[in-house]
Amino acid sequence: MPTLFASDLHLDSESPWAIDAFIAFLQGPARSAEALYLLGDLFEVWVGDDDDNIDHARTCAALRGLTASGVPTYVIHGNRDFLLGESFAARTGVKLLPDPVLVDLYGVPTLLSHGDVFCTEDPAYQQLRSIVRQTSWQERFLALPLDSRRLLANAARAGSKAHTQRTIPTIMDVNPEAVLRAFRATGARRLIHGHTHRPAIHPCVVDGVSSERVVLAPWYEAASCVAVDASGVREIPLPR
Ligand code: MN
Repeated sequence: MPTLFASDLHLDSESPWAIDAFIAFLQGPARSAEALYLLGDLFEVWVGDDDDNIDHARTCAALRGLTASGVPTYVIHGNRDFLLGESFAARTGVKLLPDPVLVDLYGVPTLLSHGDVFCTEDPAYQQLRSIVRQTSWQERFLALPLDSRRLLANAARAGSKAHTQRTIPTIMDVNPEAVLRAFRATGARRLIHGHTHRPAIHPCVVDGVSSERVVLAPWYEAASCVAVDASGVREIPLPR
């Protein structure tokens, strides 16, 4: 049975097709997976586990359905949903993982990450990341009323869009040196990440060892996942 990966679904009430496609995936192909890994930006925005958004509730119920059926499901935070917390994990039955995390998959040491940690050529982004990932910042934010958090999150999304539009595209891709350092530091032979929205399988050689970097596709126009088993990696398109 393959292990399945998806990231950058950016689930949002404004794109109901993606929510429906994800729920169909959780109730369909994911049920026969060895495990499911969601590598960040599952949600377009997550302002706290107490958010009563009806679409989030549908998605969480479907995740619970999958984990209750016995499929281990893991979530890594993305830059949009880094506030997914232990209440979310308890409600859905998923396990939150650190970023990056090294796992053994079919004998291949595999490093999993959302991917934004490797985008070291964008210092403005990395500075923002280091602030919002601090426990003290998160505690202050989560103490605000839900409506204020939603307003601030919308402002942050607008700011992020403006930054993305005026930043050279290659600056927002992973830095090859940062990727190389991660391979060396962990002994991984495969890296799977999302975030950059540049789906591909990049073969590479690290200190003479054949390795590969797998970049997952966003769900902006279509739904997809990546399946990994002992024979390797393949992308699986999902019905819209
Ligand atoms: Mn991202």
